[in-house]
Amino acid sequence: MLPSRPLVPIRGDGRPEIRLGKAGAALDWGMRRTKIVCTLGPASLDPAVIAAMIRAGMDVARLNTSHGTMEEHLGAIRMVRAVAEAEGRPIGVLMDLAGPKLRTGPTRSGLAIDLVQGATVTLTADHVEGTPERFTVEYPHLTDDIGVGEHVLINDGNIELQVESVSRDGLLCRVLVGGPLGPRKGVNFPSSALTLPSLTDEDRLAVRAGVEGQVDFFALSFVRDAHDITRTRALISSLGADTPIIAKIERRQAVANLDSILAEADGAMVARGDLGVELPPEQVPVEQRRIINSASQHMIPVITATQMLESMVDSPRPTRAESSDVANATWDLSDALMLSQETAVGRYPVEAVAMMDRIIRTAEAAALPDHDRPPAVGADDHSYVVALAARRIVESDANMKAIVCFTRSGYTAFLQSKVHPNATIFAVTPVEAVFRRLSLARGVVPLLGPLVDSSEKMLRLVDELLIGGGHLGRGEEVVVVASLPVQARGTTNFLKLHRAGESEGYGS
Ligand code: PEP
Repeated sequence: MLPSRPLVPIRGDGRPEIRLGKAGAALDWGMRRTKIVCTLGPASLDPAVIAAMIRAGMDVARLNTSHGTMEEHLGAIRMVRAVAEAEGRPIGVLMDLAGPKLRTGPTRSGLAIDLVQGATVTLTADHVEGTPERFTVEYPHLTDDIGVGEHVLINDGNIELQVESVSRDGLLCRVLVGGPLGPRKGVNFPSSALTLPSLTDEDRLAVRAGVEGQVDFFALSFVRDAHDITRTRALISSLGADTPIIAKIERRQAVANLDSILAEADGAMVARGDLGVELPPEQVPVEQRRIINSASQHMIPVITATQMLESMVDSPRPTRAESSDVANATWDLSDALMLSQETAVGRYPVEAVAMMDRIIRTAEAAALPDHDRPPAVGADDHSYVVALAARRIVESDANMKAIVCFTRSGYTAFLQSKVHPNATIFAVTPVEAVFRRLSLARGVVPLLGPLVDSSEKMLRLVDELLIGGGHLGRGEEVVVVASLPVQARGTTNFLKLHRAGESEGYGS
Protein backbone atom coordinates (compact mmCIF):
# COMPACT_ATOMS: atom_id res chain seq x y z
CA MET A 1 0.00 0.00 0.00
CA LEU A 2 1.28 3.45 -0.84
CA PRO A 3 1.18 5.86 2.07
CA SER A 4 -1.50 8.43 1.41
CA ARG A 5 0.07 11.84 0.96
CA PRO A 6 -1.34 15.16 -0.10
CA LEU A 7 -0.45 16.30 -3.60
CA VAL A 8 2.38 18.81 -3.48
CA PRO A 9 1.76 22.28 -4.81
CA ILE A 10 2.77 22.73 -8.43
CA ARG A 11 4.77 25.80 -9.37
CA GLY A 12 3.97 27.95 -12.36
CA ASP A 13 6.49 26.09 -14.53
CA GLY A 14 4.67 22.83 -13.98
CA ARG A 15 7.25 21.30 -11.64
CA PRO A 16 6.33 20.35 -8.10
CA GLU A 17 7.88 22.49 -5.38
CA ILE A 18 10.83 21.18 -3.45
CA ARG A 19 9.54 19.76 -0.19
CA LEU A 20 10.64 17.60 2.65
CA GLY A 21 9.98 13.91 2.63
CA LYS A 22 8.27 11.77 5.23
CA ALA A 23 10.95 11.93 7.88
CA GLY A 24 12.50 15.20 6.88
CA ALA A 25 14.78 13.90 4.12
CA ALA A 26 15.28 16.36 1.31
CA LEU A 27 13.46 15.35 -1.84
CA ASP A 28 15.07 16.95 -4.83
CA TRP A 29 12.14 17.36 -7.16
CA GLY A 30 14.37 18.73 -9.87
CA MET A 31 15.46 15.16 -10.37
CA ARG A 32 13.27 12.41 -11.74
CA ARG A 33 14.06 9.11 -10.01
CA THR A 34 12.50 6.62 -12.45
CA LYS A 35 14.51 6.40 -15.67
CA ILE A 36 13.19 6.46 -19.25
CA VAL A 37 14.25 3.98 -21.96
CA CYS A 38 13.42 4.98 -25.55
CA THR A 39 13.43 2.62 -28.52
CA LEU A 40 15.07 4.16 -31.57
CA GLY A 41 13.65 3.66 -35.05
CA PRO A 42 12.79 5.57 -38.20
CA ALA A 43 10.96 8.25 -36.18
CA SER A 44 13.98 9.03 -34.01
CA LEU A 45 17.21 7.98 -35.74
CA ASP A 46 18.29 11.53 -36.33
CA PRO A 47 20.79 13.53 -34.24
CA ALA A 48 18.40 16.45 -33.76
CA VAL A 49 15.56 14.18 -32.59
CA ILE A 50 17.89 12.24 -30.27
CA ALA A 51 19.15 15.51 -28.79
CA ALA A 52 15.55 16.65 -28.24
CA MET A 53 14.66 13.29 -26.65
CA ILE A 54 17.65 13.54 -24.30
CA ARG A 55 16.56 17.03 -23.26
CA ALA A 56 13.01 15.75 -22.78
CA GLY A 57 14.24 12.99 -20.45
CA MET A 58 15.63 9.95 -22.28
CA ASP A 59 18.15 8.09 -20.09
CA VAL A 60 18.74 4.93 -22.15
CA ALA A 61 18.45 4.37 -25.93
CA ARG A 62 17.23 0.92 -27.02
CA LEU A 63 18.11 -0.65 -30.35
CA ASN A 64 15.79 -3.48 -31.38
CA THR A 65 17.65 -6.03 -33.51
CA SER A 66 14.32 -7.42 -34.79
CA HIS A 67 14.60 -4.57 -37.28
CA GLY A 68 17.51 -3.09 -39.24
CA THR A 69 20.98 -4.31 -40.19
CA MET A 70 24.06 -4.56 -37.97
CA GLU A 71 25.66 -1.63 -39.87
CA GLU A 72 22.57 0.43 -39.07
CA HIS A 73 22.79 -0.51 -35.37
CA LEU A 74 26.49 0.36 -35.23
CA GLY A 75 25.67 3.70 -36.88
CA ALA A 76 22.90 4.29 -34.32
CA ILE A 77 25.30 3.58 -31.42
CA ARG A 78 27.79 6.11 -32.81
CA MET A 79 25.00 8.64 -33.26
CA VAL A 80 23.73 8.26 -29.67
CA ARG A 81 27.27 8.47 -28.27
CA ALA A 82 28.06 11.62 -30.22
CA VAL A 83 24.82 13.38 -29.24
CA ALA A 84 25.10 12.28 -25.57
CA GLU A 85 28.65 13.62 -25.47
CA ALA A 86 27.52 16.95 -26.93
CA GLU A 87 24.65 17.10 -24.40
CA GLY A 88 26.97 16.11 -21.55
CA ARG A 89 24.67 13.29 -20.40
CA PRO A 90 25.41 9.64 -19.51
CA ILE A 91 23.02 7.94 -21.94
CA GLY A 92 23.12 4.12 -21.83
CA VAL A 93 22.71 2.06 -25.01
CA LEU A 94 20.66 -1.13 -24.70
CA MET A 95 20.83 -3.67 -27.55
CA ASP A 96 17.71 -5.83 -27.51
CA LEU A 97 18.47 -9.24 -29.07
CA ALA A 98 15.51 -10.41 -31.14
CA GLY A 99 15.81 -14.04 -29.99
CA PRO A 100 13.93 -16.95 -31.52
CA LYS A 101 10.65 -15.26 -32.38
CA LEU A 102 8.51 -17.74 -34.31
CA ARG A 103 6.75 -16.44 -37.38
CA THR A 104 4.37 -17.62 -40.05
CA GLY A 105 5.70 -17.93 -43.61
CA PRO A 106 4.72 -15.99 -46.73
CA THR A 107 1.19 -16.04 -48.07
CA ARG A 108 0.16 -16.44 -51.69
CA SER A 109 0.89 -13.11 -53.47
CA GLY A 110 1.64 -11.56 -50.08
CA LEU A 111 -2.08 -11.09 -49.46
CA ALA A 112 -3.82 -11.78 -46.17
CA ILE A 113 -5.59 -15.14 -45.98
CA ASP A 114 -8.86 -15.47 -44.14
CA LEU A 115 -9.01 -18.00 -41.31
CA VAL A 116 -12.65 -18.74 -40.57
CA GLN A 117 -13.83 -19.75 -37.12
CA GLY A 118 -14.67 -23.48 -36.96
CA ALA A 119 -12.60 -24.37 -40.07
CA THR A 120 -9.48 -26.54 -39.98
CA VAL A 121 -6.01 -25.53 -41.16
CA THR A 122 -2.66 -27.36 -41.28
CA LEU A 123 0.49 -25.74 -39.89
CA THR A 124 3.67 -27.07 -41.48
CA ALA A 125 7.38 -26.45 -41.06
CA ASP A 126 7.77 -26.92 -44.86
CA HIS A 127 8.06 -23.78 -46.93
CA VAL A 128 4.73 -23.28 -48.67
CA GLU A 129 2.80 -20.28 -49.88
CA GLY A 130 0.13 -19.84 -47.25
CA THR A 131 -3.54 -20.53 -47.99
CA PRO A 132 -6.55 -20.85 -45.68
CA GLU A 133 -5.93 -24.65 -45.73
CA ARG A 134 -2.21 -24.76 -45.06
CA PHE A 135 0.53 -22.32 -44.06
CA THR A 136 4.09 -22.37 -42.76
CA VAL A 137 5.28 -21.83 -39.20
CA GLU A 138 9.06 -21.34 -39.40
CA TYR A 139 10.01 -23.84 -36.71
CA PRO A 140 11.74 -27.13 -37.62
CA HIS A 141 10.62 -28.93 -34.42
CA LEU A 142 6.96 -28.03 -34.92
CA THR A 143 5.60 -31.59 -34.88
CA ASP A 144 8.05 -32.77 -32.16
CA ASP A 145 7.35 -30.03 -29.62
CA ILE A 146 3.63 -29.36 -30.00
CA GLY A 147 0.98 -31.85 -28.91
CA VAL A 148 -2.76 -32.44 -29.36
CA GLY A 149 -4.96 -30.01 -27.41
CA GLU A 150 -2.35 -27.24 -27.26
CA HIS A 151 -3.21 -23.69 -28.30
CA VAL A 152 -1.55 -21.62 -31.02
CA LEU A 153 -1.75 -17.82 -30.87
CA ILE A 154 -0.95 -15.77 -33.96
CA ASN A 155 -0.50 -12.05 -34.59
CA ASP A 156 -0.44 -10.80 -30.98
CA GLY A 157 -3.02 -13.42 -30.00
CA ASN A 158 -5.66 -12.05 -32.35
CA ILE A 159 -6.00 -15.47 -34.03
CA GLU A 160 -6.32 -18.61 -31.89
CA LEU A 161 -6.09 -22.22 -33.03
CA GLN A 162 -6.18 -25.55 -31.18
CA VAL A 163 -4.24 -28.61 -32.30
CA GLU A 164 -6.51 -31.57 -33.14
CA SER A 165 -3.92 -34.01 -34.50
CA VAL A 166 -0.22 -34.23 -35.23
CA SER A 167 1.24 -36.05 -38.25
CA ARG A 168 4.42 -35.92 -40.33
CA ASP A 169 2.60 -33.44 -42.50
CA GLY A 170 2.11 -30.91 -39.68
CA LEU A 171 -0.37 -29.82 -37.04
CA LEU A 172 -4.02 -30.07 -37.97
CA CYS A 173 -5.71 -27.24 -36.08
CA ARG A 174 -9.25 -26.00 -35.48
CA VAL A 175 -9.71 -22.24 -35.79
CA LEU A 176 -11.13 -21.03 -32.45
CA VAL A 177 -10.83 -17.32 -33.21
CA GLY A 178 -10.46 -16.44 -36.88
CA GLY A 179 -9.36 -13.38 -38.79
CA PRO A 180 -7.13 -12.19 -41.61
CA LEU A 181 -3.56 -13.51 -41.54
CA GLY A 182 -0.85 -11.60 -43.38
CA PRO A 183 2.69 -12.87 -44.07
CA ARG A 184 5.33 -13.23 -41.31
CA LYS A 185 3.16 -12.77 -38.24
CA GLY A 186 4.38 -13.73 -34.74
CA VAL A 187 3.36 -17.15 -33.40
CA ASN A 188 3.17 -18.19 -29.72
CA PHE A 189 2.63 -21.65 -28.23
CA PRO A 190 1.82 -20.59 -24.65
CA SER A 191 1.50 -24.04 -23.12
CA SER A 192 4.42 -25.76 -24.91
CA ALA A 193 8.03 -26.19 -23.74
CA LEU A 194 9.89 -25.36 -26.95
CA THR A 195 13.38 -26.67 -27.70
CA LEU A 196 14.43 -23.39 -29.32
CA PRO A 197 17.99 -22.12 -28.88
CA SER A 198 18.00 -19.00 -26.69
CA LEU A 199 20.40 -17.32 -29.11
CA THR A 200 19.86 -17.56 -32.85
CA ASP A 201 22.68 -17.13 -35.38
CA GLU A 202 21.44 -13.56 -35.94
CA ASP A 203 21.64 -12.91 -32.17
CA ARG A 204 25.26 -14.13 -32.11
CA LEU A 205 26.11 -11.67 -34.88
CA ALA A 206 24.29 -8.93 -32.98
CA VAL A 207 26.23 -9.72 -29.78
CA ARG A 208 29.47 -9.36 -31.76
CA ALA A 209 28.32 -6.02 -33.16
CA GLY A 210 27.14 -4.90 -29.71
CA VAL A 211 30.45 -5.77 -28.08
CA GLU A 212 32.29 -4.01 -30.91
CA GLY A 213 30.08 -0.94 -30.44
CA GLN A 214 30.48 -1.19 -26.62
CA VAL A 215 26.78 -1.18 -25.85
CA ASP A 216 25.98 -0.81 -22.16
CA PHE A 217 23.35 -3.55 -21.85
CA PHE A 218 22.07 -6.54 -23.80
CA ALA A 219 18.42 -7.55 -23.40
CA LEU A 220 17.68 -11.21 -24.11
CA SER A 221 14.28 -12.06 -25.62
CA PHE A 222 12.24 -15.20 -24.92
CA VAL A 223 14.34 -16.32 -21.96
CA ARG A 224 13.16 -19.70 -20.64
CA ASP A 225 15.51 -20.43 -17.76
CA ALA A 226 18.75 -19.35 -16.07
CA HIS A 227 20.84 -21.36 -18.58
CA ASP A 228 19.80 -18.95 -21.33
CA ILE A 229 21.49 -16.18 -19.35
CA THR A 230 24.65 -18.19 -18.56
CA ARG A 231 25.05 -19.22 -22.21
CA THR A 232 24.72 -15.62 -23.37
CA ARG A 233 27.16 -14.50 -20.68
CA ALA A 234 29.66 -17.11 -21.88
CA LEU A 235 29.39 -15.74 -25.43
CA ILE A 236 29.85 -12.14 -24.27
CA SER A 237 32.86 -13.00 -22.14
CA SER A 238 34.40 -15.07 -24.96
CA LEU A 239 34.43 -11.75 -26.84
CA GLY A 240 36.28 -10.09 -23.95
CA ALA A 241 33.35 -8.07 -22.55
CA ASP A 242 31.27 -8.09 -19.34
CA THR A 243 28.17 -6.32 -20.66
CA PRO A 244 25.19 -6.74 -18.27
CA ILE A 245 22.30 -8.94 -19.48
CA ILE A 246 18.67 -7.96 -18.97
CA ALA A 247 16.29 -10.92 -19.00
CA LYS A 248 13.06 -10.18 -20.85
CA ILE A 249 10.25 -11.95 -19.02
CA GLU A 250 7.70 -12.69 -21.72
CA ARG A 251 7.21 -16.45 -21.70
CA ARG A 252 5.19 -18.69 -19.42
CA GLN A 253 8.35 -20.70 -18.83
CA ALA A 254 10.17 -17.54 -17.70
CA VAL A 255 7.33 -16.68 -15.33
CA ALA A 256 7.60 -20.18 -13.86
CA ASN A 257 11.41 -19.90 -13.52
CA LEU A 258 11.44 -16.25 -12.46
CA ASP A 259 13.50 -16.59 -9.30
CA SER A 260 16.35 -18.62 -10.80
CA ILE A 261 16.45 -16.36 -13.90
CA LEU A 262 16.68 -13.19 -11.82
CA ALA A 263 19.37 -14.75 -9.62
CA GLU A 264 21.50 -15.05 -12.77
CA ALA A 265 20.55 -11.91 -14.75
CA ASP A 266 21.83 -8.35 -14.26
CA GLY A 267 18.43 -6.80 -14.89
CA ALA A 268 14.85 -7.70 -15.82
CA MET A 269 12.28 -6.41 -18.27
CA VAL A 270 8.53 -6.85 -17.90
CA ALA A 271 8.03 -7.42 -21.65
CA ARG A 272 4.28 -7.00 -21.62
CA GLY A 273 3.88 -7.35 -25.40
CA ASP A 274 4.62 -11.05 -25.65
CA LEU A 275 3.76 -11.69 -22.00
CA GLY A 276 0.23 -10.50 -22.79
CA VAL A 277 -0.01 -13.07 -25.57
CA GLU A 278 1.34 -15.96 -23.50
CA LEU A 279 -0.81 -15.09 -20.48
CA PRO A 280 -4.41 -13.88 -20.29
CA PRO A 281 -4.60 -10.07 -20.06
CA GLU A 282 -5.81 -10.11 -16.45
CA GLN A 283 -2.66 -11.98 -15.42
CA VAL A 284 -0.22 -9.36 -16.83
CA PRO A 285 -0.56 -6.76 -14.01
CA VAL A 286 -0.19 -9.52 -11.42
CA GLU A 287 3.04 -10.75 -13.02
CA GLN A 288 4.26 -7.18 -13.55
CA ARG A 289 4.14 -6.55 -9.82
CA ARG A 290 5.69 -9.93 -9.02
CA ILE A 291 8.59 -9.34 -11.45
CA ILE A 292 9.26 -5.84 -10.08
CA ASN A 293 9.25 -7.10 -6.47
CA SER A 294 11.39 -10.09 -7.33
CA ALA A 295 13.95 -7.87 -9.13
CA SER A 296 14.05 -5.68 -6.02
CA GLN A 297 14.80 -8.71 -3.87
CA HIS A 298 17.55 -9.75 -6.28
CA MET A 299 18.95 -6.19 -6.23
CA ILE A 300 18.80 -5.77 -10.00
CA PRO A 301 17.14 -3.01 -12.03
CA VAL A 302 13.80 -3.68 -13.69
CA ILE A 303 12.25 -2.04 -16.76
CA THR A 304 8.49 -2.00 -17.30
CA ALA A 305 7.87 -2.07 -21.05
CA THR A 306 5.39 -1.90 -23.91
CA GLN A 307 2.26 0.07 -24.72
CA MET A 308 2.92 2.57 -21.91
CA LEU A 309 1.87 5.55 -24.06
CA GLU A 310 0.86 3.55 -27.16
CA SER A 311 -1.85 5.97 -28.30
CA MET A 312 0.89 8.63 -28.68
CA VAL A 313 2.06 6.76 -31.79
CA ASP A 314 -0.69 8.74 -33.56
CA SER A 315 -1.89 11.27 -31.04
CA PRO A 316 -0.17 14.13 -29.18
CA ARG A 317 -1.90 13.16 -25.91
CA PRO A 318 -2.08 9.81 -24.12
CA THR A 319 -5.24 8.16 -22.85
CA ARG A 320 -6.11 8.52 -19.15
CA ALA A 321 -5.51 4.79 -18.72
CA GLU A 322 -1.99 5.16 -20.15
CA SER A 323 -1.05 8.01 -17.84
CA SER A 324 -2.35 5.94 -14.90
CA ASP A 325 -0.28 2.97 -16.12
CA VAL A 326 2.90 5.09 -16.13
CA ALA A 327 2.15 6.46 -12.66
CA ASN A 328 1.37 3.02 -11.23
CA ALA A 329 4.56 1.48 -12.68
CA THR A 330 6.45 4.38 -11.04
CA TRP A 331 4.79 3.76 -7.66
CA ASP A 332 5.50 0.05 -8.00
CA LEU A 333 9.21 1.08 -8.06
CA SER A 334 10.21 0.15 -11.58
CA ASP A 335 13.75 1.41 -12.14
CA ALA A 336 12.85 2.45 -15.66
CA LEU A 337 9.86 2.68 -17.98
CA MET A 338 10.18 1.99 -21.69
CA LEU A 339 8.77 3.57 -24.82
CA SER A 340 8.64 1.29 -27.89
CA GLN A 341 6.58 2.20 -30.94
CA GLU A 342 6.00 5.67 -29.50
CA THR A 343 9.62 6.72 -30.12
CA ALA A 344 10.55 4.19 -32.82
CA VAL A 345 7.81 4.81 -35.38
CA GLY A 346 5.40 7.26 -33.76
CA ARG A 347 4.49 10.73 -34.94
CA TYR A 348 5.36 12.34 -31.58
CA PRO A 349 8.61 10.79 -30.28
CA VAL A 350 9.84 13.85 -28.36
CA GLU A 351 6.39 14.66 -26.99
CA ALA A 352 6.03 11.04 -25.76
CA VAL A 353 9.28 11.32 -23.78
CA ALA A 354 8.27 14.71 -22.37
CA MET A 355 4.85 13.34 -21.41
CA MET A 356 6.36 10.29 -19.70
CA ASP A 357 8.78 12.58 -17.85
CA ARG A 358 5.91 14.76 -16.60
CA ILE A 359 3.74 11.84 -15.49
CA ILE A 360 6.64 10.22 -13.60
CA ARG A 361 7.70 13.48 -11.90
CA THR A 362 4.16 14.20 -10.80
CA ALA A 363 3.67 10.63 -9.54
CA GLU A 364 6.96 10.71 -7.65
CA ALA A 365 6.07 14.05 -6.09
CA ALA A 366 2.61 12.91 -5.08
CA ALA A 367 3.46 9.72 -3.21
CA LEU A 368 6.45 8.21 -1.55
CA PRO A 369 7.36 4.63 -2.40
CA ASP A 370 6.28 1.80 -0.20
CA HIS A 371 9.23 0.82 1.93
CA ASP A 372 7.77 -2.37 3.31
CA ARG A 373 9.52 -4.62 0.84
CA PRO A 374 10.57 -8.20 1.35
CA PRO A 375 14.26 -8.44 2.35
CA ALA A 376 16.89 -8.59 -0.35
CA VAL A 377 18.58 -11.74 -1.51
CA GLY A 378 21.90 -11.94 -3.31
CA ALA A 379 23.57 -8.94 -1.65
CA ASP A 380 26.27 -9.60 0.90
CA ASP A 381 24.99 -8.78 4.39
CA HIS A 382 27.40 -6.00 5.25
CA SER A 383 26.86 -4.01 2.04
CA TYR A 384 23.11 -4.35 2.40
CA VAL A 385 23.13 -3.19 6.02
CA VAL A 386 25.35 -0.19 5.12
CA ALA A 387 22.88 0.73 2.33
CA LEU A 388 19.94 0.49 4.76
CA ALA A 389 21.83 2.59 7.33
CA ALA A 390 22.54 5.27 4.73
CA ARG A 391 18.83 5.38 3.88
CA ARG A 392 17.81 5.62 7.55
CA ILE A 393 20.26 8.48 8.17
CA VAL A 394 19.38 10.51 5.07
CA GLU A 395 15.66 10.20 5.85
CA SER A 396 15.99 11.10 9.52
CA ASP A 397 17.67 14.49 9.28
CA ALA A 398 16.41 17.49 7.32
CA ASN A 399 19.95 18.76 6.80
CA MET A 400 20.94 15.53 5.04
CA LYS A 401 20.62 16.23 1.34
CA ALA A 402 21.82 13.13 -0.48
CA ILE A 403 23.73 9.86 -0.44
CA VAL A 404 27.04 9.79 -2.30
CA CYS A 405 28.32 6.36 -3.42
CA PHE A 406 31.85 5.75 -4.62
CA THR A 407 31.83 2.76 -6.94
CA ARG A 408 34.07 1.05 -9.47
CA SER A 409 31.80 -1.81 -10.51
CA GLY A 410 28.50 0.00 -9.88
CA TYR A 411 27.59 -2.49 -7.12
CA THR A 412 27.43 -0.03 -4.22
CA ALA A 413 25.26 2.36 -6.24
CA PHE A 414 22.87 -0.29 -7.61
CA LEU A 415 22.50 -1.69 -4.09
CA GLN A 416 21.82 1.77 -2.65
CA SER A 417 19.26 2.38 -5.39
CA LYS A 418 17.47 -0.86 -4.51
CA VAL A 419 16.82 0.13 -0.89
CA HIS A 420 14.91 3.12 -2.33
CA PRO A 421 15.97 6.04 -0.12
CA ASN A 422 13.89 9.20 -0.33
CA ALA A 423 16.90 11.20 -1.43
CA THR A 424 19.05 11.55 -4.51
CA ILE A 425 21.94 9.10 -4.83
CA PHE A 426 25.05 10.56 -6.45
CA ALA A 427 27.26 7.77 -7.77
CA VAL A 428 30.87 8.73 -8.43
CA THR A 429 32.82 6.30 -10.61
CA PRO A 430 36.11 6.45 -12.50
CA VAL A 431 34.87 3.83 -15.02
CA GLU A 432 33.12 5.23 -18.08
CA ALA A 433 31.15 2.03 -18.80
CA VAL A 434 29.81 2.04 -15.21
CA PHE A 435 28.97 5.75 -15.52
CA ARG A 436 26.70 4.84 -18.46
CA ARG A 437 25.29 1.64 -16.89
CA LEU A 438 24.07 3.68 -13.94
CA SER A 439 21.71 5.43 -16.38
CA LEU A 440 19.31 2.57 -15.58
CA ALA A 441 19.44 2.77 -11.78
CA ARG A 442 16.44 4.41 -10.14
CA GLY A 443 17.27 7.58 -8.22
CA VAL A 444 20.93 7.60 -9.23
CA VAL A 445 22.76 10.59 -10.73
CA PRO A 446 25.98 9.20 -12.24
CA LEU A 447 29.11 11.37 -11.96
CA LEU A 448 32.45 10.65 -13.57
CA GLY A 449 35.44 11.33 -11.32
CA PRO A 450 39.05 10.27 -10.87
CA LEU A 451 39.95 7.11 -8.97
CA VAL A 452 40.49 8.02 -5.32
CA ASP A 453 42.18 5.66 -2.92
CA SER A 454 41.66 7.22 0.51
CA SER A 455 38.74 8.54 2.52
CA GLU A 456 40.30 12.02 2.62
CA LYS A 457 40.50 12.21 -1.17
CA MET A 458 36.93 10.94 -1.42
CA LEU A 459 35.58 13.73 0.77
CA ARG A 460 37.55 16.37 -1.11
CA LEU A 461 36.08 15.01 -4.33
CA VAL A 462 32.55 15.13 -2.85
CA ASP A 463 33.03 18.86 -2.17
CA GLU A 464 34.60 19.45 -5.54
CA LEU A 465 31.89 17.64 -7.55
CA LEU A 466 28.80 18.47 -5.51
CA ILE A 467 29.47 22.02 -4.33
CA GLY A 468 31.27 22.78 -7.59
CA GLY A 469 28.42 21.27 -9.63
CA GLY A 470 25.81 23.29 -7.74
CA HIS A 471 24.19 20.17 -6.21
CA LEU A 472 25.05 21.00 -2.60
CA GLY A 473 25.46 24.15 -0.50
CA ARG A 474 28.22 24.62 2.09
CA GLY A 475 27.11 23.32 5.48
CA GLU A 476 24.59 20.86 4.01
CA GLU A 477 25.26 17.22 4.77
CA VAL A 478 25.52 14.01 2.81
CA VAL A 479 26.04 10.36 3.69
CA VAL A 480 29.09 8.97 1.89
CA VAL A 481 29.29 5.20 1.32
CA ALA A 482 32.10 3.28 -0.31
CA SER A 483 34.24 0.22 -0.31
CA LEU A 484 37.73 0.87 1.07
CA PRO A 485 40.35 0.00 0.01
CA VAL A 486 39.01 0.53 -3.51
CA GLN A 487 38.63 -2.79 -5.37
CA ALA A 488 36.91 -3.98 -8.53
CA ARG A 489 33.91 -5.14 -6.47
CA GLY A 490 34.34 -5.02 -2.74
CA THR A 491 31.97 -5.10 0.21
CA THR A 492 30.51 -1.68 1.00
CA ASN A 493 32.25 -1.11 4.32
CA PHE A 494 32.57 2.66 4.70
CA LEU A 495 29.94 5.16 5.80
CA LYS A 496 30.72 8.76 6.72
CA LEU A 497 28.47 11.71 7.49
CA HIS A 498 30.03 14.63 5.74
CA ARG A 499 29.29 18.35 5.96
CA ALA A 500 29.88 20.01 2.60
CA GLY A 501 32.93 22.26 2.60
CA GLU A 502 34.60 20.59 5.56
CA SER A 503 37.04 18.54 3.53
CA GLU A 504 39.37 21.53 3.19
CA GLY A 505 41.22 20.58 6.33
CA TYR A 506 41.92 17.08 5.04
CA GLY A 507 45.25 16.23 3.49
CA SER A 508 45.33 15.43 -0.22
C1 PEP B 1 7.66 -7.04 -25.44
O1 PEP B 1 7.28 -8.10 -25.95
O2 PEP B 1 6.98 -6.40 -24.63
C2 PEP B 1 9.00 -6.52 -25.77
C3 PEP B 1 9.54 -5.53 -25.10
O3 PEP B 1 9.67 -7.13 -26.78
P1 PEP B 1 9.68 -6.69 -28.32
O4 PEP B 1 9.42 -5.22 -28.32
O5 PEP B 1 11.03 -7.07 -28.80
O6 PEP B 1 8.58 -7.48 -28.92
